[in-house]
Amino acid sequence: MSTPNHTLTLNNGKKMPLVGHGLWKIPNEKVADHVYNAIKAGYRLFDSACDYGNEVEAGQGIARAIKDGLVKREDLFIVSKLWNTFHEKERVEPICRKQLKDFGLDYFDLYIMHFPIALKYVDPAVRYPPGWFHDGITPTDIQLSNATIRETWEAMESLVDTGLVRSLGLSNFNCASILDLLRYAQIRPATLQIEHHPYLVQQPLIDFVNKEGITVTAYSSFGPQGYVEMDLEHAVKTPHLFENPVVKEVAKAHGKTPPQVLLRWATQQGVAVIPKSDTLPMLLDNLDAKGFDLTEEEIKKISGLDRNLRFNNPLVYFGCLPIFN
Ligand code: NAD
Repeated sequence: MSTPNHTLTLNNGKKMPLVGHGLWKIPNEKVADHVYNAIKAGYRLFDSACDYGNEVEAGQGIARAIKDGLVKREDLFIVSKLWNTFHEKERVEPICRKQLKDFGLDYFDLYIMHFPIALKYVDPAVRYPPGWFHDGITPTDIQLSNATIRETWEAMESLVDTGLVRSLGLSNFNCASILDLLRYAQIRPATLQIEHHPYLVQQPLIDFVNKEGITVTAYSSFGPQGYVEMDLEHAVKTPHLFENPVVKEVAKAHGKTPPQVLLRWATQQGVAVIPKSDTLPMLLDNLDAKGFDLTEEEIKKISGLDRNLRFNNPLVYFGCLPIFN
């Protein structure tokens, strides 16, 4: 069994594991066992979201691990996200309570605004998770809500006041929208979760948020890998980072695997990671990505692979809104 995770201290003093596990795209029927096995392997942070549609099963895995005495609730760091259709202030607390109920938990360690995009409300009784399209099927049916980011953030701050959530975070925000939010935030975001890998380094954004005391969590650390399984054309056509000669050479020099090098490249720079593993060997491989150090030269070489290449850009793929521009 691996040793417990290293942690990062957030701007509110809470500790967050440096390496966690992402739950997007894990089939519902596998999530409970997967979470249980990940806890057994030593994972303490799980990154979930309303949009992943598997919070009930993730909660079952957690409950079993607690019941079997593998961990206590306070040993875990459970992250979930507010979906875009629940940005109006009166929607925030009810949906957070539903997500907690699905998980079987009293509180989330971190609750993140998934995207800086407010979509028209969809009743969870009608369709859950609601997804991007208002009618549930037509990719151009993106209906916006009038809720501002400020309205949503203030409602999220109330979740901390009521004890439903310990820390708040942002995801998929750019520098300008963070700057604006910091003008009025009574509770500063503790983390920013962004797509981050050697093809999309975003160093100026990372430097800016770090200076503001906000910790960065990388998602899709393996670049195209997580999108190949979705058959996303430009991910399929992009050379895999696992096969990249620079990454392979560094891996060979340290006796590690390419995925471990990609994760260490991030964590050594203070960026938390949440890789999604599909098998037990992957779970172990990814958790073991901390016990070695890359040289500065190696970090620079890997960062030099940057192509400003983004894979998670849903509204662009649907031909609707260029949200990152
Ligand atoms: P990822 O970069 O973690 O890649 C997953 C792919 O890599 C899978 O195909 C898996 O089989 C493979 N893989 C994992 N470990 C491996 C190993 N050791 N060896 C070989 N192959 C390995 O992809 P991801 O799922 O896009 O991102 C991870 C997590 O980030 C998600 O599960 C989710 O929690 C989060 N995320 C958040 C957002 C957001 O908008 N905030 C968007 C995307 C992902």
